[in-house]
Amino acid sequence: MAIAPLAPAISIRERYGDIVSERWPVIVEPLHEEMLSSWLHRLAYANGVAPRAFARVLGLTPGMWSASLDLKLPGDIARQLCANTGVSSDQLSAMTLSHALPKQLLLPLRNSRRRDRSTWLQFCSQCLAEDSQPYFRRRWRLATRVSCTKHGCRLRDRCPCCRSRIAVFNGNRLVPQHFCARCGYDLRRASIIALSPGAKWFDRCIDDICRPEALTRSPSGRALIRRLLSMPTLVGIYSAKVLTSLSTAARTRCVEKLTCQLSDWLMDDG
Ligand SMILES: [Zn+2]
Ligand SMILES: [Zn+2]
Repeated sequence: MAIAPLAPAISIRERYGDIVSERWPVIVEPLHEEMLSSWLHRLAYANGVAPRAFARVLGLTPGMWSASLDLKLPGDIARQLCANTGVSSDQLSAMTLSHALPKQLLLPLRNSRRRDRSTWLQFCSQCLAEDSQPYFRRRWRLATRVSCTKHGCRLRDRCPCCRSRIAVFNGNRLVPQHFCARCGYDLRRASIIALSPGAKWFDRCIDDICRPEALTRSPSGRALIRRLLSMPTLVGIYSAKVLTSLSTAARTRCVEKLTCQLSDWLMDDG
């Protein structure tokens, strides 16, 4: 007698959509003092999406999409990022610029071709070279910062090869964010620009003064911020300009000049 083949056992399982996680394939942990846009660019790269295309993944139009999120992270995008990456909302808000940084001292999001005008972001090539995953720090967005706290060199605000600003958000190619989006230059290779010891010391003093979170809320803190913004007029190099409108090189000239005036004043017998 022929034996009938066994029928495959069929049982009801969970729906595919219920067991597949919302998480994107590669999860990227935020790094120390990392800026939200920097983390977003690393996240996009790790998941095989170029930065400009990643804007559409988040339902945004291209342009300075990630730099805008640094300033204000809408609730729906924060919820999407939490669900897709597993990063907490506290971690996300700690990467934005509204967290513990005086917003009046942030470099503006504009694109001027003039060499003496500010760009939106600065970087230290040595920090990028030492990072296992090169990333941009939140404090590199402050107009009051002209040097790297760790390496003591002057920060840069333009690609040394094509002289354009850092525009990772515009990137159409799948490359890590330390390559210039315009010409492909590796920013880690940028030469080191030295600062005088006095200017380095003064830059750190200003940074220390600007650190307390309550600074922008107290009348004396607001007066200090106004004073810092008027530094170009104070030293008489770029009269009628505010600190945030100047390039890193121009702001460094202000700091160097102010440091000389300070040391002259300290050494003055009178
Ligand atoms: Zn550095
Ligand atoms: Zn370039």
